[in-house]
Amino acid sequence: MDVKDFIEDLLQEEPIFERKEALNPDYIPANLPAREKQIKELAIIFRDILTKPGSVSVTAITVGKHGTGKTVTVRKFGELVTEIGKERGIKIMFAHVNCHKQRTVFLTLVEAARQLNIDVPNRGLSTQELFKNLHDHLEKRKAFLIIALDEFDYLINTSTMEDLYLLARVYDEPGFTTKRINYIFIIRDLNSLMIVDRSIRDQFMKNVVVFPEYTKEELYQILKDRVENEKAIRKGAIEEEALRYIAEHSENARFALEVLDLAGVIAQTDGAPIITVEYAKKAISQINPELGIISKTIKDLDLHQLLLLKAILKNGGKQVSIGTIENEYVNIVRNLGEKPRKHSQVYEYIRKMKMLGLVITEQSGKGTRGRTTLVSVTDSVKEIEENIEKEIQNRLKEKTE
Ligand code: ADP
Ligand code: MG
Repeated sequence: MDVKDFIEDLLQEEPIFERKEALNPDYIPANLPAREKQIKELAIIFRDILTKPGSVSVTAITVGKHGTGKTVTVRKFGELVTEIGKERGIKIMFAHVNCHKQRTVFLTLVEAARQLNIDVPNRGLSTQELFKNLHDHLEKRKAFLIIALDEFDYLINTSTMEDLYLLARVYDEPGFTTKRINYIFIIRDLNSLMIVDRSIRDQFMKNVVVFPEYTKEELYQILKDRVENEKAIRKGAIEEEALRYIAEHSENARFALEVLDLAGVIAQTDGAPIITVEYAKKAISQINPELGIISKTIKDLDLHQLLLLKAILKNGGKQVSIGTIENEYVNIVRNLGEKPRKHSQVYEYIRKMKMLGLVITEQSGKGTRGRTTLVSVTDSVKEIEENIEKEIQNRLKEKTE
């Protein structure tokens, strides 16, 4: 088949995906599994702008690591409040601005205005004048605004204290009868606020909503929801096991969804009718090249080196003394009816695996009786524990054949 035909076929039908757009990073799904609590907390914090609009300017801060659903949850919340406002005859507007792109408070306000089709001058004003200008526009429209300042950590570092003060305290100044602008700050780490003045920080920290990391089960629920309710993947076009595998091997929701998307693309390119665990694995090693490299390295190890790795992994990747590992290794080998390698050989293996970037060694400090070498595996090795086990099984099979 020539390539042109191939591409045309590809455009005609997507055998794996039904609604691929539901996997886009900025897609907002109908459900947000495991984030109901955070949405409720935001609702409580912002209650006053629906019950007593204009009486307060509300600020909330959402904090959590990469891929914990901060952006999607806040945007969802924005949609919800706007809608509820409409039902109650209160005009609430919502803008979501990324501070990584708009690196001054001034520019974030300009961007918020642009999103709402509010015409503000984008130069020649001070930040405070711009704020006033935006406020007046809202006043004319009898509207209230929630601005979500995403990746706010960046703005803290790049903006002046004066501008941050403005965000936190502008409605403390006289001259405003109604308060129309409210904020949700989205940050990764509360420590980034340590550099701002106390009075500003206290205002920012009034209402903190925490986004904990997802458990593997929660990641699974998120994936499942995209597949089934959002119909990203055609019915039956992904193995249940593959979905589980992706959840198990993902650190956060962003990575998990990216893997799902790529696994589908690879399967489709292969002409496969269904996403299997193999495609999930391929996708993971492509997105996380380090894992790909480590997976290849594993294939070059001999059986005893693999068994030694298994012995180290027995402790869940914690640091253990080389003596303990050797005992563990000897046990594993004997259970297999094999003869363990000599002490000196075991040391040599560990040295080699250290050079290959599979294990980390460290000398135990004072306090422990006698000095010993402590060994642990790198994070990537932990990720591919299953591959190691499989590789061991393969080697054992080869031997008996
Ligand atoms: P953060 O802003 O914390 O880095 P995002 O909100 O961008 O994380 O989430 C990363 C990806 O994971 C997005 O595609 C988002 O839609 C998805 N996601 C995160 N949490 C959930 C959830 N609870 N339910 C559904 N999708 C989620
Ligand atoms: Mg985000």
